Amino acid sequence: MKLVRLLANLGYGSRRQVAALCREGRVTDADGAPLYADDVVAHAAVRVDGAPLDPAHGMLLMLHKPTGYTCSMRDPGRVVYDLLPPRFRLRSPQLSTVGRLDRDTSGLLLLTDDGALLHRIIAPKSDLPKVYEAELAEPLRGDEAALFASGTLVLESERTPLKPAKLEPLDDRRARLALAEGRYHQVRRMFAATGNRVVRLHRSRVGGLALDALAEGEWRQVGAAERERLF
Ligand code: URA
Repeated sequence: MKLVRLLANLGYGSRRQVAALCREGRVTDADGAPLYADDVVAHAAVRVDGAPLDPAHGMLLMLHKPTGYTCSMRDPGRVVYDLLPPRFRLRSPQLSTVGRLDRDTSGLLLLTDDGALLHRIIAPKSDLPKVYEAELAEPLRGDEAALFASGTLVLESERTPLKPAKLEPLDDRRARLALAEGRYHQVRRMFAATGNRVVRLHRSRVGGLALDALAEGEWRQVGAAERERLF
């Protein structure tokens, strides 16, 4: 593929901008020799500012989402894409969030351009556990674990009972909750159904992937071996 098209698809800029990058000598081969916009190149052989290119497809990112950011591309306020390099917004295929976290929820957010992987994680049948830590306005009543595990709880304005969920109290106002599904505002609505209110919500894990040492707002690519741990 021509270099200019390869880099434009990956979001490094318009064709004109990519041509300018080449003229500035910022696009090279692995040995540092400059490449030109019309060169026909292999993805693995190209460096921009010395760094290998992002994967052309099948990219999976882990982001430590801070509160105050929405998962939408179109929200007029702060969005999670603001925390990533601008090229990630421009690449094709597009990078989507794997499910959503509310603006006021922090923690582990995955993003991918791999539609099959996205579906595998969020499909209703997937049952992949999503683990949250919730801080509550009121002390736990004591019957929440049994209620959430029962598979009988029906949220307001819904008809289908929730799948059984596992609640582990951490202290009288904090609990860890593992869900096997991802309905709209699910954790907040589950605690609302017990007369309580979530004041802080953080997601720490999706399947076998935990939010590791990433600071709030930081992201990294999830490699192939780690991806295996998801399911
Ligand atoms: N449940 C919620 O209520 N909010 C989230 O962001 C995620 C799960």
